[in-house]
Amino acid sequence: MLARVLGKGTPPADHASPAESADPQEVPLTAAPADPESQRCGYVAIVGKPNVGKSTLLNALVGQKVSITSRKAQTTRHRITGMRTVGPTQFVFVDTPGFQTRHGNALNRALNKTVLGAVNDVDLILFVVEAGQFNLADAKVLSLLPANVPVMLVANKFDLVHRRGDLAPWLRSMQERHPFAEFVPMSAKAAKDIERLFGICEKYLPQQPWMHDPDDLTDRSERFMASEMVREKLFRLTGDELPYTSTVIIDKFEEEGSLKRIAATIVVEREGHKGMVIGEKGEKLKRIGTEARQELEKLWDCKVFLELWVKVRSGWADDDARVRSFGYE
Ligand code: GDP
Ligand code: MG
Repeated sequence: MLARVLGKGTPPADHASPAESADPQEVPLTAAPADPESQRCGYVAIVGKPNVGKSTLLNALVGQKVSITSRKAQTTRHRITGMRTVGPTQFVFVDTPGFQTRHGNALNRALNKTVLGAVNDVDLILFVVEAGQFNLADAKVLSLLPANVPVMLVANKFDLVHRRGDLAPWLRSMQERHPFAEFVPMSAKAAKDIERLFGICEKYLPQQPWMHDPDDLTDRSERFMASEMVREKLFRLTGDELPYTSTVIIDKFEEEGSLKRIAATIVVEREGHKGMVIGEKGEKLKRIGTEARQELEKLWDCKVFLELWVKVRSGWADDDARVRSFGYE
């Protein structure tokens, strides 16, 4: 079994690899028309320190990319909801930027506020940690969670745990930290684990009619998705050099039949950062544009014409670099 429902004080007995489990109860991943009487619908918040895999998990649960992921910490700055209707149950997910525990600046304070706002009125909290690990940053996040909402411990990146037997004492120690409702060792990158997670979460959602169309995956605007996608490619392709304060602004978003025409500006802090984004002969910027465009075309199933500009926050003038990533190549 992927998840063990542990009563208080029950030590986890065995922790078979989720991949090896043979639970016959498969969760259908398509929304079947359910009669309103039997429908469930509720909010699930995904919390945890940066880089534990929250966005990866959210995207896998939603089945589409609605949150950007990166090896660089702090890439998620907005509260993003994704939704997924599985059988009679509609899950509305809330991604959070991760509690920022290291720096006390205004941006981080704002991030923490978003997180706290996100967890107060949910039905279930998925507290994500890396399997076998728990440090001060994890503890800080855990200490901020409300007491009246069930919290599930998601021990993510289980695939990276080589000696799985070592996980049992760790799970026991975790039991003492919080009255977790469930313990779920899993990998956000394993489809089977994601399916199981739906089944485990389901019972925590109240019986009530769906709030969204069962085919909807996000309530975020297409404009927002476009800027997030460019931001993801920006951070992925510039590695650790570029400060996370760089932002993406959508200047134009127009639809012409089945074509979407988008112009966006990457705003960087310093002149020196511009070069990192543009790259040699504009190669980097071109790649950011192409990859973002391809993902958006996949997401929306239409042609996208994406034009990217780079500007330095102060004094943006006529030397602004520009790249076009055409919908037709
Ligand atoms: P967030 O900051 O918590 O949202 O973390 P992200 O979702 O951005 O993921 C951080 C990094 O961990 C990325 O490089 C992911 O690919 C990686 N990651 C996420 N889940 C897993 C997992 O289950 N196994 C492994 N090996 N890597 C993972
Ligand atoms: Mg994230």
